[in-house]
Amino acid sequence: MATGRLCTQLLSGHDPGLPALFVSVGKPLKGPRTAWDLRELGVRLHWQEPMATQPLEAATKVTQCKYKRIGCPWHGPFHELTVHEAACAHPTKTGNELMEILDEMDQSHRKEMQLYNSIFSLLSFEKIGYTEVQFRPYRTDDFITRLYYETPRFTVLNQTWVLKARVNDSERNPNLSCKRTLSFQLLLKSKVTAPLECSFLLLKGPYDDVRISPVIYHFVFTNESNETDYVPLPIIDSVECNKLLAAKNINLRLFLFQIQK
Ligand SMILES: [Zn+2]
Repeated sequence: MATGRLCTQLLSGHDPGLPALFVSVGKPLKGPRTAWDLRELGVRLHWQEPMATQPLEAATKVTQCKYKRIGCPWHGPFHELTVHEAACAHPTKTGNELMEILDEMDQSHRKEMQLYNSIFSLLSFEKIGYTEVQFRPYRTDDFITRLYYETPRFTVLNQTWVLKARVNDSERNPNLSCKRTLSFQLLLKSKVTAPLECSFLLLKGPYDDVRISPVIYHFVFTNESNETDYVPLPIIDSVECNKLLAAKNINLRLFLFQIQK
């Protein structure tokens, strides 16, 4: 069962600038509490895994409607599932309405297939490099400091690189917003004798469980233009993003594919 210690764990996120990320407490907590007590006290849990206590996990586990296959987008806590499914509008839609929904679903499936096909063709390139990258948190020295992440320098395809990442595109008060996103840029640190055209891709690394939907980005690196724009780090959702921010470092794997003319 959960205890007072659990609350402290939840409340001590690594970054004091972002306390609202993890948990919000209605009343002060004293002494050992069960997970249910925490809810009674107004503790709002923003994600479940660190809680890992059976009753709460089972009741708040995010589930999807059984009519997902015909396009119902609903997802929510397990204990609300029965009520939703009884009232779900999807099974009573007409054939024509369902056809439209199925068309949309086919289209997104096609896009997904295209992405995987592109990844497979990149895998047959001659020059491919990959490495584990570790984003470490830092603060800007502005008057109002901002959190950003940077990796140590690393070498891939015989070049030196750095990755940087920022939260909610460095908006002023990310702790006031409940939707969190990460974006990143890739910087070439070594000098090149000719433009270096690359595709690159961030995926989960071998040791951390990060849910990323792969996106391939392209850039032509030269000595004058040696950093990409900030592009979205495609973490599947805001909850997953909060989980990453709660961990000290963010460990991912970077793939670089050199495009040869
Ligand atoms: Zn539904």
